[in-house]
Amino acid sequence: MTLQVRTLLAPRHLCHADGCTRAVAERFLMCRPHWRMVPRRLQAAVWDAYRLGQELDKRPSDEWLRAADAAIAAVRDLEARHRPPALFGPDIA
Ligand SMILES: [Zn+2]
Repeated sequence: MTLQVRTLLAPRHLCHADGCTRAVAERFLMCRPHWRMVPRRLQAAVWDAYRLGQELDKRPSDEWLRAADAAIAAVRDLEARHRPPALFGPDIA
């Protein structure tokens, strides 16, 4: 199998931010726009806990998983705060 064919057949790795469908390289947790929403200290925590090749053997450390969860939660919180209010819904009388 050629490299090109394998690349085409490889499953896509998507950004881990909630609901995001952007494909990103496997070593990255999120797409660039979402990663930019992560506070610097959490970005540093994710990279500090990253082990080269963990995306290949699918065995990230507990420390990396905790840092990744915190980064994903930070984006979730930020997006929830900036979501425009619903114009139509059960809250509107
Ligand atoms: Zn994303």
